[in-house]
Amino acid sequence: MTLSPTERARYSRHLLLPEIGAAGQERLKAARVLVVGAGGLGSPASLYLAAAGVGTLAIVDHDQVELSNLQRQLLFDTASVGAGKALSARARLRSLNDEIDVVAHQVELRAANARELLAGHDCIIDGSDRLATRYLVNDACVLLRLPLVSAAIHRFEGQAMTYLPGQGPCYRCLFPESAAGAAPSCAEAGVLGVLPGMLGALQATEAIKVVLGIGAPLVGRLLTYDALAMEWHEFRFRRRSDCAVCGDAPTIRTLADSAASCALDAAPLWPRVDAHELQRRLGAAGAAGQAAPTVVDVREAYEYEAGHLDGSVNIPLGQLARRIGELPAHSPLVFVCRSGRRSQSACELSARAGIQSVVDLEGGLLAWAAAVDPSIKVA
Ligand SMILES: [Zn+2]
Repeated sequence: MTLSPTERARYSRHLLLPEIGAAGQERLKAARVLVVGAGGLGSPASLYLAAAGVGTLAIVDHDQVELSNLQRQLLFDTASVGAGKALSARARLRSLNDEIDVVAHQVELRAANARELLAGHDCIIDGSDRLATRYLVNDACVLLRLPLVSAAIHRFEGQAMTYLPGQGPCYRCLFPESAAGAAPSCAEAGVLGVLPGMLGALQATEAIKVVLGIGAPLVGRLLTYDALAMEWHEFRFRRRSDCAVCGDAPTIRTLADSAASCALDAAPLWPRVDAHELQRRLGAAGAAGQAAPTVVDVREAYEYEAGHLDGSVNIPLGQLARRIGELPAHSPLVFVCRSGRRSQSACELSARAGIQSVVDLEGGLLAWAAAVDPSIKVA
């Protein structure tokens, strides 16, 4: 695919880079990249990929543009409110670069249509805000052997990683499925508007590197970003031989398996105590000379500040992986959260880090308030 004179002018700053040059720009022109979700992450990712000259850009989103999206979803403007996101994104991307093809899929990505939508692309960008969709996209990429650049955002924090088939771990190696439903969406928890700009631009960078085969992509590395502290951290991880989808004996072999595994009402995987039992253990500790359990509250700081158990410490779930060393090694641990979903994920993270004797509070602090202490304020 040779470049026309106008394309050579448009992409002249790329042509100057020895890592890209005319040959790389032609590869970009021949490339097909699909963006799942035209939201906070999908906006900067698709704008930069369109500007960079990715020849075929596909956008999947079934939502309509809402006024509250405009705080961060720069694909859209005030006049777009009420329009279909994929269709509106297509118009914006084509006005940015009329040399490329933009394919709008104004549909919801589901197990039933994932193969048809994803197959044939050189790279998939996951900008969805639903955990179940993130697992579906991951599983589809593993099963179809497609590179995937995944990212997620929450309040002031974000994370990103890249999956390359046969070269490293997948998203499920890092977060096995029991975390499904644990993370609140932007609508529930809020998000700094500029935050997805950082992560979405990072995803576009990774996709360009994957297409061109240059640099070192985020394979086996989870990059985390904390906008308040203005800190980036890297968390290295390996492929799990027992991963449900990319492991040695996968239990997810089809997209239907993937859909079934994402059911939000999955049975708990880790031992739990109910509120009365936790109350007994906390009360019994001193009297019987037993070590008091350490209660770790894995909710966000603002939820903790609104009301928490006396003596509990606060490590939000999103920070737990890098703060795992702060957990006491010699006393029993009890994780608590609002409803008992995030605490299950915390049990899993800790167990994988080699910490024994962890349990969580079934039903979370909502159950504690109902059964033990109605005066506790649960945000
Ligand atoms: Zn895996």
